[in-house]
Amino acid sequence: MSKVRVRFAPSPTGGLHLGGVRTVLFNYLFAKHHGGDFIVRVEDTDQTRWVAGAEEYIFDCLKWCGLEPDESVLHGGDFAPYRQSERKAIYRQYADQLIEAGHAYYAFDTSEELEKMREELKAKGSHSLQYDQAIRMGMNNSLRLLPEETAALLAAGTPYVVRIKMPANEFVSFTDMIRGELSFDTNTVDDKVLLKADGMPTYHLAVVVDDFLMKISHAFRGEEWLPSAPVHILLWKYLFGLDAMPAWAHLPLILKPDGNGKLSKRDGDRLGFPVYAMDWTDPKTSEITKGFKEIGFMPQAFVNLLAVLGWNDGSQQELFSIEELIEKFSMEKVHKGGAKFDYEKAKWFNHEWIKKSAAPDLLSLVKKVMESNQLSISNDDYLLTVIELVKERCTLLTDFYEQGKFFFEAPVNWDLPSVQPKWDAGKKSFFESFAQALQTVEIWDVASIENTFKALATEHNIKVGELQMIFRVMLVGSKMGPGVFVIAQAIGREDSIARVQKALQHF
Ligand code: GLU
Repeated sequence: MSKVRVRFAPSPTGGLHLGGVRTVLFNYLFAKHHGGDFIVRVEDTDQTRWVAGAEEYIFDCLKWCGLEPDESVLHGGDFAPYRQSERKAIYRQYADQLIEAGHAYYAFDTSEELEKMREELKAKGSHSLQYDQAIRMGMNNSLRLLPEETAALLAAGTPYVVRIKMPANEFVSFTDMIRGELSFDTNTVDDKVLLKADGMPTYHLAVVVDDFLMKISHAFRGEEWLPSAPVHILLWKYLFGLDAMPAWAHLPLILKPDGNGKLSKRDGDRLGFPVYAMDWTDPKTSEITKGFKEIGFMPQAFVNLLAVLGWNDGSQQELFSIEELIEKFSMEKVHKGGAKFDYEKAKWFNHEWIKKSAAPDLLSLVKKVMESNQLSISNDDYLLTVIELVKERCTLLTDFYEQGKFFFEAPVNWDLPSVQPKWDAGKKSFFESFAQALQTVEIWDVASIENTFKALATEHNIKVGELQMIFRVMLVGSKMGPGVFVIAQAIGREDSIARVQKALQHF
């Protein structure tokens, strides 16, 4: 096999959907598994859909996920430029070549004429309103016009598009790496536009030309492109020969949790979970769509959960590091059917990744969470201790704030409804003595604090359980958190005593 070269070819039209990141991931895993190259090519030939900031955002997402390309607009490479709008001059010769060989033609139809055609088809009760072989000879194109009429229109600078001339009665087949042998009847495919009036290629022409020029060996894309496959295969056949064509895999859709359709941003809004990789701000409306990163997902967990959406290695294993994925991934094990997205399961992956990560690996992520909540962290070692104590309790990285903030700040509110029914003069006197006793605990560790607490409880003849709950509310403000003596040890003697004394004034 010649060198594996795969590409992710996003159009910069907005936020990056998790289906897009999964396409990136499968490309990346396949390339790395085979020691090949992963290329990102920006497909921005449709200027009407171009959105400011979308390209930068896509690269930021890839960086966050750790799926860095080998070649791209940002990373450079031997096949530059990697942005199709900068390759505009390349495509026309291929369109010309197709016209010369009789596989494509000039179409001069105005938008009014196209509209009229659709109206007529509708009136005839036709199901398809396509520009295709059934109607092309009634339209304003170089197939119907005399050569001199076409030449005159061209010479007069009449706007035109170039369309592929779909052959009649042919079957176009190819072997998809996931779906196997697929065949299409050319009679059902329309004469797609290849070159637009502004001289820009459409996706159909550009994808074939660029996959050829960039020596792409395998092309993976979403299943929604399957209907266009016959057009691309014919273009390969006409321009470069089928032997040069990359192997194709059409990836199954990621489905909404409660239906069969493709998971959309709207489903995320409706059901309350993110669908984009990172926060995306629409430059026109300034509306922010939440992303997995900002909601508190670890990139490793995000990558892991996407990998198993539609792929598994045949074992029961669910947690995979990127290294394991690279080792085990194969396109043949990608499922044909769509995979339903399950947000609860997605969170489960994140929880598992938080638990299995060592505190130092979480440090910078958690620090950001704390700081974005106005908690300034001056001592990394202390934060590491806190991370170790609470990570089992955190599903999302953002949970570290709620679960850990009391290690840094004394509570200003307490769960009084839990404390008050148990509060009486005996308990008050216990905690006054306990605050005293804490001054003299010799070694400030969990065992000594606990022993002091229990001995004093016996002396005061009060049940330890109730006292412990109250002590916890004094330190934390609520009934949550790890072991109360562990908390006391972590926050230190002075702070523990101060919190008990402050609570005594309020309870
Ligand atoms: N530009 C296409 C898209 O946005 C890429 C499809 C492909 O990978 O060939 O989906």
